[in-house]
Amino acid sequence: MTARLPLQAAETASQRSMDISNPPSFLTADRMGPWAIYLEQIKRVQPHLGKLGEFAETLARPKRILIVDVPIRMDDGSIAHFEGYRVQHNLARGPGKGGVRFHPDVTLPEVMALAAWMSIKTAAVNLPFGGAKGGVRVNPRDLSRGELERLTRRYTSEIGFMIGPGKDIPAPDVNTDEQIMAWMMDTYSANAGHSASGAVTGKPVSLGGSLGRRDATGRGVFVVAAEAAKTRNIALASSSCAIQGFGNVGYAAARLFHRHGCKISAVQTSSGAIFSDYGIDPGKLHDHIKRSGSVAGFPASEPLTADEFWSDEVEFLIPAALEEQITRDNAAKIRAQIVVEGANGPVTPEADDILENNGVLVVPDVLANAGGVTVSYFEWVQDMASFFWSEDEVNSRLDRLMTEAFMSIADVARLHKVSLRTAAYIVGCERILSARQLRGLYP
Ligand code: NAD
Repeated sequence: MTARLPLQAAETASQRSMDISNPPSFLTADRMGPWAIYLEQIKRVQPHLGKLGEFAETLARPKRILIVDVPIRMDDGSIAHFEGYRVQHNLARGPGKGGVRFHPDVTLPEVMALAAWMSIKTAAVNLPFGGAKGGVRVNPRDLSRGELERLTRRYTSEIGFMIGPGKDIPAPDVNTDEQIMAWMMDTYSANAGHSASGAVTGKPVSLGGSLGRRDATGRGVFVVAAEAAKTRNIALASSSCAIQGFGNVGYAAARLFHRHGCKISAVQTSSGAIFSDYGIDPGKLHDHIKRSGSVAGFPASEPLTADEFWSDEVEFLIPAALEEQITRDNAAKIRAQIVVEGANGPVTPEADDILENNGVLVVPDVLANAGGVTVSYFEWVQDMASFFWSEDEVNSRLDRLMTEAFMSIADVARLHKVSLRTAAYIVGCERILSARQLRGLYP
Protein backbone atom coordinates (compact mmCIF):
# COMPACT_ATOMS: atom_id res chain seq x y z
CA MET A 1 0.00 0.00 0.00
CA THR A 2 1.33 3.43 -0.82
CA ALA A 3 1.19 6.55 1.33
CA ARG A 4 1.93 8.85 -1.61
CA LEU A 5 -0.67 11.50 -2.22
CA PRO A 6 -1.66 13.11 -5.50
CA LEU A 7 -1.78 16.33 -3.46
CA GLN A 8 1.99 16.43 -3.11
CA ALA A 9 2.60 16.48 -6.85
CA ALA A 10 -0.13 19.06 -7.44
CA GLU A 11 1.38 21.23 -4.76
CA THR A 12 4.77 21.59 -6.38
CA ALA A 13 3.50 22.15 -9.91
CA SER A 14 0.90 24.68 -8.85
CA GLN A 15 3.21 26.60 -6.57
CA ARG A 16 5.61 27.14 -9.47
CA SER A 17 2.95 28.62 -11.68
CA MET A 18 1.16 30.59 -8.94
CA ASP A 19 1.41 34.30 -9.33
CA ILE A 20 -0.61 35.56 -6.39
CA SER A 21 0.65 36.45 -2.98
CA ASN A 22 -1.90 34.42 -1.03
CA PRO A 23 -2.47 31.04 -2.70
CA PRO A 24 -5.26 28.79 -1.37
CA SER A 25 -4.03 26.71 1.55
CA PHE A 26 -4.63 23.35 -0.17
CA LEU A 27 -1.80 24.23 -2.56
CA THR A 28 0.64 24.97 0.23
CA ALA A 29 -0.41 22.52 2.95
CA ASP A 30 2.74 21.27 4.60
CA ARG A 31 1.02 19.62 7.53
CA MET A 32 -0.11 16.16 6.50
CA GLY A 33 -0.43 15.32 10.23
CA PRO A 34 -3.85 13.72 10.68
CA TRP A 35 -3.85 12.05 7.25
CA ALA A 36 -0.38 10.60 7.91
CA ILE A 37 -1.67 9.31 11.27
CA TYR A 38 -4.64 7.66 9.57
CA LEU A 39 -2.37 6.00 6.98
CA GLU A 40 -0.18 4.63 9.78
CA GLN A 41 -3.28 3.23 11.51
CA ILE A 42 -4.34 1.54 8.28
CA LYS A 43 -0.85 0.09 7.88
CA ARG A 44 -1.15 -1.51 11.31
CA VAL A 45 -4.43 -3.24 10.50
CA GLN A 46 -3.36 -4.59 7.10
CA PRO A 47 -1.68 -7.78 8.38
CA HIS A 48 -4.99 -8.79 9.97
CA LEU A 49 -7.17 -8.42 6.87
CA GLY A 50 -6.41 -11.75 5.21
CA LYS A 51 -7.68 -12.01 1.63
CA LEU A 52 -9.54 -8.71 1.93
CA GLY A 53 -6.09 -7.08 2.06
CA GLU A 54 -6.27 -7.16 -1.75
CA PHE A 55 -8.67 -4.21 -1.55
CA ALA A 56 -6.89 -2.36 1.26
CA GLU A 57 -5.50 0.42 -0.93
CA THR A 58 -9.06 1.66 -1.34
CA LEU A 59 -8.82 2.76 2.32
CA ALA A 60 -5.81 4.97 1.55
CA ARG A 61 -7.61 6.84 -1.23
CA PRO A 62 -10.52 9.21 -0.60
CA LYS A 63 -13.25 8.50 -3.13
CA ARG A 64 -14.06 12.15 -3.80
CA ILE A 65 -12.59 15.51 -2.77
CA LEU A 66 -14.28 18.83 -3.36
CA ILE A 67 -12.58 22.17 -2.68
CA VAL A 68 -14.80 25.22 -2.89
CA ASP A 69 -14.38 28.96 -2.79
CA VAL A 70 -16.93 30.53 -0.44
CA PRO A 71 -17.25 34.27 -1.15
CA ILE A 72 -19.51 36.31 1.10
CA ARG A 73 -20.45 39.96 1.52
CA MET A 74 -19.20 41.20 4.89
CA ASP A 75 -21.16 43.63 7.05
CA ASP A 76 -18.81 46.49 6.06
CA GLY A 77 -19.63 45.96 2.37
CA SER A 78 -16.37 44.21 1.43
CA ILE A 79 -16.18 40.71 -0.08
CA ALA A 80 -14.27 37.98 1.77
CA HIS A 81 -13.27 34.58 0.39
CA PHE A 82 -13.13 31.45 2.53
CA GLU A 83 -11.89 28.02 1.59
CA GLY A 84 -14.24 25.08 2.07
CA TYR A 85 -13.94 21.32 1.64
CA ARG A 86 -16.14 18.26 1.47
CA VAL A 87 -14.42 14.88 1.31
CA GLN A 88 -16.20 11.58 0.78
CA HIS A 89 -13.75 8.95 1.87
CA ASN A 90 -15.67 5.74 1.25
CA LEU A 91 -19.27 5.09 0.21
CA ALA A 92 -19.19 1.29 -0.16
CA ARG A 93 -21.59 0.71 2.77
CA GLY A 94 -24.00 3.61 2.24
CA PRO A 95 -24.27 7.39 1.94
CA GLY A 96 -21.43 9.53 3.28
CA LYS A 97 -21.80 10.73 6.85
CA GLY A 98 -19.72 13.24 8.73
CA GLY A 99 -19.62 16.64 10.33
CA VAL A 100 -18.66 20.09 9.16
CA ARG A 101 -15.91 21.95 11.04
CA PHE A 102 -15.48 25.73 11.05
CA HIS A 103 -11.94 26.43 12.24
CA PRO A 104 -9.13 28.74 11.05
CA ASP A 105 -6.64 25.83 10.97
CA VAL A 106 -8.75 23.37 8.95
CA THR A 107 -6.71 21.87 6.11
CA LEU A 108 -7.54 19.46 3.33
CA PRO A 109 -5.37 16.65 4.82
CA GLU A 110 -7.19 17.12 8.13
CA VAL A 111 -10.61 16.85 6.48
CA MET A 112 -9.39 13.80 4.52
CA ALA A 113 -8.38 12.11 7.78
CA LEU A 114 -11.60 13.07 9.53
CA ALA A 115 -13.60 11.65 6.59
CA ALA A 116 -11.59 8.42 6.69
CA TRP A 117 -12.12 8.06 10.45
CA MET A 118 -15.86 8.41 9.78
CA SER A 119 -15.71 5.47 7.32
CA ILE A 120 -14.00 3.31 9.93
CA LYS A 121 -16.33 4.52 12.69
CA THR A 122 -19.64 3.94 10.89
CA ALA A 123 -18.40 0.48 9.91
CA ALA A 124 -16.98 -0.37 13.35
CA VAL A 125 -20.36 0.25 15.00
CA ASN A 126 -22.20 -1.15 11.97
CA LEU A 127 -24.21 1.85 10.78
CA PRO A 128 -25.27 1.71 7.11
CA PHE A 129 -23.15 4.72 6.12
CA GLY A 130 -19.83 5.54 4.55
CA GLY A 131 -17.49 8.27 5.75
CA ALA A 132 -17.32 11.95 4.82
CA LYS A 133 -16.33 15.26 6.39
CA GLY A 134 -16.40 18.95 5.59
CA GLY A 135 -14.74 22.09 6.78
CA VAL A 136 -14.31 25.80 6.21
CA ARG A 137 -11.13 27.68 7.12
CA VAL A 138 -12.67 30.39 9.24
CA ASN A 139 -12.75 31.57 12.80
CA PRO A 140 -16.49 31.92 13.31
CA ARG A 141 -15.85 34.19 16.30
CA ASP A 142 -14.57 36.83 13.86
CA LEU A 143 -17.91 36.86 12.02
CA SER A 144 -21.20 38.55 12.89
CA ARG A 145 -24.26 36.31 13.01
CA GLY A 146 -25.33 37.57 9.59
CA GLU A 147 -21.89 36.85 8.11
CA LEU A 148 -21.90 33.36 9.69
CA GLU A 149 -25.30 32.63 8.15
CA ARG A 150 -24.19 33.84 4.70
CA LEU A 151 -21.00 31.75 4.96
CA THR A 152 -22.95 28.64 5.97
CA ARG A 153 -25.51 29.06 3.20
CA ARG A 154 -22.94 29.73 0.47
CA TYR A 155 -20.81 26.77 1.59
CA THR A 156 -23.89 24.51 1.59
CA SER A 157 -24.85 25.71 -1.85
CA GLU A 158 -21.32 25.12 -3.18
CA ILE A 159 -21.22 21.52 -1.93
CA GLY A 160 -24.94 21.06 -2.67
CA PHE A 161 -24.56 18.76 -5.67
CA MET A 162 -22.50 16.33 -3.61
CA ILE A 163 -24.71 16.07 -0.51
CA GLY A 164 -28.29 14.90 0.09
CA PRO A 165 -30.27 12.40 2.19
CA GLY A 166 -29.21 9.44 0.02
CA LYS A 167 -25.75 10.75 -0.91
CA ASP A 168 -23.91 12.39 1.97
CA ILE A 169 -25.38 13.80 5.16
CA PRO A 170 -23.46 16.53 7.05
CA ALA A 171 -23.71 17.09 10.82
CA PRO A 172 -22.16 19.39 13.45
CA ASP A 173 -18.51 19.25 14.44
CA VAL A 174 -16.12 21.75 16.04
CA ASN A 175 -17.68 25.26 16.07
CA THR A 176 -20.85 24.23 14.24
CA ASP A 177 -24.16 23.71 16.00
CA GLU A 178 -27.91 23.18 15.62
CA GLN A 179 -28.47 26.68 14.20
CA ILE A 180 -25.85 26.10 11.50
CA MET A 181 -27.48 22.75 10.67
CA ALA A 182 -30.85 24.55 10.39
CA TRP A 183 -29.34 27.01 7.86
CA MET A 184 -27.73 24.12 5.96
CA MET A 185 -31.00 22.19 5.83
CA ASP A 186 -32.91 25.28 4.69
CA THR A 187 -30.37 26.13 1.96
CA TYR A 188 -30.27 22.56 0.67
CA SER A 189 -34.10 22.44 0.70
CA ALA A 190 -34.43 25.80 -1.07
CA ASN A 191 -32.11 24.63 -3.86
CA ALA A 192 -33.79 21.20 -4.08
CA GLY A 193 -37.28 22.73 -4.26
CA HIS A 194 -38.65 20.68 -1.38
CA SER A 195 -38.10 20.40 2.33
CA ALA A 196 -35.39 17.81 2.92
CA SER A 197 -35.00 17.31 6.65
CA GLY A 198 -32.86 14.19 6.11
CA ALA A 199 -30.18 16.26 4.32
CA VAL A 200 -28.35 17.06 7.57
CA THR A 201 -28.45 15.75 11.13
CA GLY A 202 -27.90 17.51 14.42
CA LYS A 203 -30.78 19.88 13.56
CA PRO A 204 -33.03 21.54 16.13
CA VAL A 205 -35.72 19.10 17.29
CA SER A 206 -38.44 21.39 15.89
CA LEU A 207 -36.97 20.90 12.37
CA GLY A 208 -36.76 17.10 12.47
CA GLY A 209 -33.81 16.77 14.82
CA SER A 210 -33.66 13.88 17.25
CA LEU A 211 -34.15 14.07 20.97
CA GLY A 212 -30.88 13.01 22.62
CA ARG A 213 -28.65 14.08 19.70
CA ARG A 214 -27.08 17.04 21.50
CA ASP A 215 -25.58 14.88 24.26
CA ALA A 216 -25.16 11.68 22.24
CA THR A 217 -21.41 11.82 21.65
CA GLY A 218 -20.66 12.55 25.30
CA ARG A 219 -23.13 9.87 26.35
CA GLY A 220 -21.41 7.31 24.12
CA VAL A 221 -18.04 8.31 25.59
CA PHE A 222 -19.40 7.64 29.06
CA VAL A 223 -21.02 4.31 28.09
CA VAL A 224 -17.80 2.87 26.63
CA ALA A 225 -15.74 4.29 29.52
CA ALA A 226 -18.01 2.43 31.93
CA GLU A 227 -17.53 -0.80 29.92
CA ALA A 228 -13.75 -0.28 29.83
CA ALA A 229 -13.77 0.34 33.59
CA LYS A 230 -15.26 -3.14 34.13
CA THR A 231 -12.29 -4.72 32.36
CA ARG A 232 -9.95 -3.00 34.85
CA ASN A 233 -12.15 -3.49 37.95
CA ILE A 234 -12.55 0.25 38.38
CA ALA A 235 -15.60 1.37 40.35
CA LEU A 236 -17.03 4.54 38.81
CA ALA A 237 -18.24 5.85 42.17
CA SER A 238 -14.71 6.03 43.55
CA SER A 239 -12.98 7.11 40.33
CA SER A 240 -11.74 10.43 38.99
CA CYS A 241 -11.27 11.89 35.54
CA ALA A 242 -9.55 14.69 33.66
CA ILE A 243 -11.21 16.17 30.58
CA GLN A 244 -9.66 18.18 27.76
CA GLY A 245 -12.33 20.17 25.91
CA PHE A 246 -15.55 21.30 27.52
CA GLY A 247 -17.70 21.75 24.42
CA ASN A 248 -20.45 19.56 23.06
CA VAL A 249 -18.59 16.31 23.76
CA GLY A 250 -16.58 17.13 26.88
CA TYR A 251 -19.39 18.84 28.77
CA ALA A 252 -21.98 16.12 28.07
CA ALA A 253 -19.51 13.39 29.08
CA ALA A 254 -18.52 15.34 32.21
CA ARG A 255 -22.15 15.55 33.38
CA LEU A 256 -22.58 11.77 33.12
CA PHE A 257 -19.28 10.97 34.86
CA HIS A 258 -20.24 13.42 37.62
CA ARG A 259 -23.75 11.95 37.92
CA HIS A 260 -22.27 8.47 38.42
CA GLY A 261 -20.01 9.60 41.24
CA CYS A 262 -16.76 10.05 39.29
CA LYS A 263 -14.81 13.08 40.50
CA ILE A 264 -13.89 15.53 37.70
CA SER A 265 -10.51 16.60 38.99
CA ALA A 266 -9.17 18.60 36.03
CA VAL A 267 -10.55 20.36 32.95
CA GLN A 268 -8.58 21.95 30.14
CA THR A 269 -10.03 24.17 27.43
CA SER A 270 -8.45 26.59 24.95
CA SER A 271 -8.52 29.14 27.79
CA GLY A 272 -6.30 27.08 30.14
CA ALA A 273 -6.55 24.25 32.65
CA ILE A 274 -7.78 23.96 36.24
CA PHE A 275 -7.59 21.35 38.99
CA SER A 276 -9.81 20.87 41.99
CA ASP A 277 -9.21 18.43 44.81
CA TYR A 278 -12.91 18.69 45.70
CA GLY A 279 -14.07 17.79 42.20
CA ILE A 280 -15.48 20.12 39.57
CA ASP A 281 -19.25 20.41 39.21
CA PRO A 282 -19.72 20.45 35.40
CA GLY A 283 -22.91 22.56 35.48
CA LYS A 284 -21.25 25.19 37.65
CA LEU A 285 -18.11 25.24 35.48
CA HIS A 286 -20.28 25.59 32.37
CA ASP A 287 -22.02 28.63 33.91
CA HIS A 288 -18.65 30.06 34.98
CA ILE A 289 -17.24 29.73 31.42
CA LYS A 290 -20.39 31.32 30.01
CA ARG A 291 -20.03 34.27 32.38
CA SER A 292 -16.26 34.78 32.23
CA GLY A 293 -15.24 33.14 28.94
CA SER A 294 -12.58 31.04 30.69
CA VAL A 295 -12.02 28.22 33.17
CA ALA A 296 -9.69 30.52 35.16
CA GLY A 297 -10.97 31.68 38.51
CA PHE A 298 -13.44 28.82 39.00
CA PRO A 299 -14.12 28.64 42.76
CA ALA A 300 -12.09 26.12 44.80
CA SER A 301 -9.80 25.36 41.86
CA GLU A 302 -6.20 26.12 41.01
CA PRO A 303 -4.60 26.69 37.59
CA LEU A 304 -2.65 23.84 35.98
CA THR A 305 0.08 23.92 33.37
CA ALA A 306 -0.42 21.70 30.32
CA ASP A 307 2.18 19.25 31.69
CA GLU A 308 0.42 19.07 35.03
CA PHE A 309 -2.91 18.49 33.29
CA TRP A 310 -1.60 15.49 31.33
CA SER A 311 0.08 13.95 34.36
CA ASP A 312 -2.96 14.17 36.65
CA GLU A 313 -3.33 10.80 38.39
CA VAL A 314 -6.85 9.74 37.42
CA GLU A 315 -8.71 6.64 36.33
CA PHE A 316 -10.03 8.29 33.13
CA LEU A 317 -8.45 10.84 30.81
CA ILE A 318 -10.84 12.15 28.18
CA PRO A 319 -9.28 14.14 25.33
CA ALA A 320 -12.36 15.82 23.81
CA ALA A 321 -10.92 18.83 21.95
CA LEU A 322 -8.81 18.39 18.82
CA GLU A 323 -6.50 15.87 17.15
CA GLU A 324 -2.80 15.26 17.95
CA GLN A 325 -3.00 16.22 21.62
CA ILE A 326 -1.25 13.15 23.07
CA THR A 327 2.02 12.71 21.22
CA ARG A 328 5.42 11.16 21.88
CA ASP A 329 6.22 14.39 23.78
CA ASN A 330 3.65 13.97 26.53
CA ALA A 331 2.44 10.33 26.34
CA ALA A 332 4.96 9.08 28.90
CA LYS A 333 3.65 11.62 31.44
CA ILE A 334 0.16 10.20 31.40
CA ARG A 335 -0.81 8.48 34.63
CA ALA A 336 -4.44 7.75 33.78
CA GLN A 337 -5.51 4.11 33.62
CA ILE A 338 -7.89 4.55 30.69
CA VAL A 339 -7.84 7.13 27.88
CA VAL A 340 -11.22 7.51 26.18
CA GLU A 341 -10.95 9.43 22.91
CA GLY A 342 -13.88 11.85 22.79
CA ALA A 343 -12.10 13.84 20.08
CA ASN A 344 -11.12 12.48 16.69
CA GLY A 345 -7.45 11.56 16.40
CA PRO A 346 -6.20 12.95 19.72
CA VAL A 347 -3.52 10.23 20.17
CA THR A 348 -0.75 9.79 17.58
CA PRO A 349 0.46 6.26 16.69
CA GLU A 350 3.78 6.83 18.52
CA ALA A 351 1.86 7.90 21.61
CA ASP A 352 -0.38 4.84 21.21
CA ASP A 353 2.71 2.62 21.50
CA ILE A 354 3.99 4.47 24.57
CA LEU A 355 0.61 4.25 26.30
CA GLU A 356 0.27 0.55 25.49
CA ASN A 357 3.76 -0.17 26.87
CA ASN A 358 2.82 1.72 30.03
CA GLY A 359 -0.34 -0.34 30.47
CA VAL A 360 -2.76 2.50 29.67
CA LEU A 361 -5.92 1.26 27.95
CA VAL A 362 -6.96 3.48 25.02
CA VAL A 363 -10.59 3.36 23.86
CA PRO A 364 -10.20 4.65 20.30
CA ASP A 365 -12.17 7.52 18.76
CA VAL A 366 -13.78 5.33 16.10
CA LEU A 367 -15.56 3.54 18.93
CA ALA A 368 -15.56 6.02 21.82
CA ASN A 369 -17.11 9.01 20.05
CA ALA A 370 -19.42 7.01 17.77
CA GLY A 371 -22.44 7.98 19.89
CA GLY A 372 -22.91 11.18 17.87
CA VAL A 373 -23.05 9.52 14.48
CA THR A 374 -25.21 6.75 15.94
CA VAL A 375 -27.91 9.18 17.03
CA SER A 376 -27.40 11.05 13.76
CA TYR A 377 -28.32 7.76 12.12
CA PHE A 378 -31.40 7.53 14.37
CA GLU A 379 -32.27 11.11 13.39
CA TRP A 380 -31.97 10.30 9.68
CA VAL A 381 -34.13 7.18 10.12
CA GLN A 382 -36.76 9.25 11.99
CA ASP A 383 -36.70 11.94 9.25
CA MET A 384 -37.13 9.31 6.52
CA ALA A 385 -40.07 7.76 8.35
CA SER A 386 -41.44 11.11 9.63
CA PHE A 387 -41.98 9.28 12.88
CA PHE A 388 -40.18 10.48 15.98
CA TRP A 389 -38.95 8.60 19.03
CA SER A 390 -38.95 9.52 22.71
CA GLU A 391 -35.65 10.53 24.33
CA ASP A 392 -35.71 7.34 26.43
CA GLU A 393 -36.03 5.25 23.29
CA VAL A 394 -33.11 7.09 21.63
CA ASN A 395 -30.92 6.78 24.72
CA SER A 396 -31.65 3.11 25.36
CA ARG A 397 -30.99 2.19 21.71
CA LEU A 398 -27.75 4.22 21.85
CA ASP A 399 -26.60 2.61 25.10
CA ARG A 400 -27.30 -0.87 23.73
CA LEU A 401 -25.52 -0.25 20.44
CA MET A 402 -22.44 1.29 22.10
CA THR A 403 -22.20 -1.48 24.70
CA GLU A 404 -22.48 -4.19 22.06
CA ALA A 405 -19.91 -2.45 19.84
CA PHE A 406 -17.48 -2.20 22.77
CA MET A 407 -17.93 -5.87 23.67
CA SER A 408 -17.51 -7.18 20.14
CA ILE A 409 -14.41 -5.01 19.53
CA ALA A 410 -12.94 -6.07 22.90
CA ASP A 411 -13.49 -9.73 21.84
CA VAL A 412 -11.58 -9.12 18.59
CA ALA A 413 -8.79 -7.42 20.56
CA ARG A 414 -8.49 -10.49 22.81
CA LEU A 415 -8.63 -12.91 19.87
CA HIS A 416 -5.93 -11.14 17.82
CA LYS A 417 -3.97 -9.91 20.88
CA VAL A 418 -4.09 -6.34 19.59
CA SER A 419 -5.08 -2.94 20.98
CA LEU A 420 -8.71 -1.82 20.99
CA ARG A 421 -7.82 0.59 18.18
CA THR A 422 -6.44 -2.10 15.90
CA ALA A 423 -9.42 -4.31 16.82
CA ALA A 424 -11.88 -1.55 15.91
CA TYR A 425 -10.00 -1.07 12.63
CA ILE A 426 -10.13 -4.82 11.95
CA VAL A 427 -13.92 -4.83 12.45
CA GLY A 428 -14.46 -1.61 10.49
CA CYS A 429 -12.07 -2.37 7.62
CA GLU A 430 -13.42 -5.91 7.19
CA ARG A 431 -16.95 -4.54 6.81
CA ILE A 432 -15.88 -1.84 4.33
CA LEU A 433 -13.71 -4.16 2.26
CA SER A 434 -16.31 -6.96 2.24
CA ALA A 435 -18.81 -4.46 0.84
CA ARG A 436 -16.21 -3.42 -1.74
CA GLN A 437 -15.59 -7.05 -2.66
CA LEU A 438 -19.31 -7.89 -2.95
CA ARG A 439 -20.07 -4.81 -5.01
CA GLY A 440 -17.12 -5.52 -7.29
CA LEU A 441 -15.35 -3.06 -9.52
CA TYR A 442 -17.17 -1.15 -12.25
CA PRO A 443 -16.61 -1.65 -15.13
P1 NAD B 1 -16.76 22.13 20.56
O1 NAD B 1 -16.40 23.21 19.61
O2 NAD B 1 -18.14 22.09 21.10
O3 NAD B 1 -15.76 22.17 21.83
C1 NAD B 1 -14.37 22.11 21.68
C2 NAD B 1 -13.73 22.26 23.05
O4 NAD B 1 -12.33 22.05 22.92
C3 NAD B 1 -13.89 23.65 23.69
O5 NAD B 1 -14.09 23.52 25.07
C4 NAD B 1 -12.54 24.32 23.41
O6 NAD B 1 -12.20 25.31 24.37
C5 NAD B 1 -11.62 23.12 23.53
N1 NAD B 1 -10.35 23.33 22.83
C6 NAD B 1 -10.15 23.77 21.56
N2 NAD B 1 -8.84 23.85 21.28
C7 NAD B 1 -8.20 23.43 22.41
C8 NAD B 1 -6.84 23.28 22.77
N3 NAD B 1 -5.88 23.57 21.89
N4 NAD B 1 -6.54 22.84 24.02
C9 NAD B 1 -7.51 22.55 24.91
N5 NAD B 1 -8.83 22.67 24.62
C10 NAD B 1 -9.16 23.12 23.40
O7 NAD B 1 -16.38 20.76 19.82
P2 NAD B 1 -17.02 19.34 20.02
O8 NAD B 1 -18.21 19.20 19.13
O9 NAD B 1 -17.15 19.05 21.48
O10 NAD B 1 -15.87 18.39 19.40
C11 NAD B 1 -14.70 18.06 20.12
C12 NAD B 1 -14.02 16.90 19.44
O11 NAD B 1 -14.93 15.79 19.38
C13 NAD B 1 -13.56 17.11 17.99
O12 NAD B 1 -12.40 16.35 17.77
C14 NAD B 1 -14.70 16.53 17.19
O13 NAD B 1 -14.29 16.13 15.88
C15 NAD B 1 -15.06 15.34 18.03
N6 NAD B 1 -16.40 14.82 17.83
C16 NAD B 1 -17.49 15.62 17.99
C17 NAD B 1 -18.75 15.07 17.79
C18 NAD B 1 -20.00 15.87 18.04
O14 NAD B 1 -21.09 15.27 17.99
N7 NAD B 1 -19.93 17.15 18.31
C19 NAD B 1 -18.89 13.72 17.41
C20 NAD B 1 -17.75 12.94 17.28
C21 NAD B 1 -16.51 13.51 17.49
